[in-house]
Amino acid sequence: MFNSNLNEQQIEHLKQICDEGGIKLTHQRLEIFREIMAASDHPSAELIHKRLQTKMPTLAIDTVYRTLATFDELGIVKKLHVMGERALFDANLTKHHHFVCTRCKQVEDIYWPEFDESMIPEKAAHMGRIQSRHLELRGICNTCLKKMNKD
Ligand SMILES: [Zn+2]
Ligand SMILES: [Zn+2]
Repeated sequence: MFNSNLNEQQIEHLKQICDEGGIKLTHQRLEIFREIMAASDHPSAELIHKRLQTKMPTLAIDTVYRTLATFDELGIVKKLHVMGERALFDANLTKHHHFVCTRCKQVEDIYWPEFDESMIPEKAAHMGRIQSRHLELRGICNTCLKKMNKD
């Protein structure tokens, strides 16, 4: 879970990353950042756009796409590809993995330190320098299971 109110330090940090990346931290970018930091449900660009609509009625969807792509490049958020669906975004940069429901496409965070610390298979280790590892578990979430049982 994330606190929806960004503190000074988080904003300063974001400003610094933007400076180093050569982009301006505009009001729109800050609001998009605020929105994704407040979300714990891995929202898509479309959903972020929808959620910002009351607050920022003139915000264009293209701006959201571009901003999120930039944030992804700068390492501010992580772009996830969930089963060929449109990209989802994750502001949780701590090491974690995902459980994806194949029915409702809900993405839940999983913390798995044993996996993070396990040995990389020798073959993979020889393919190059590993920079990160991410595991995606797929299945049917409890909510969907309950619904299926009712039918
Ligand atoms: Zn589900
Ligand atoms: Zn996540």
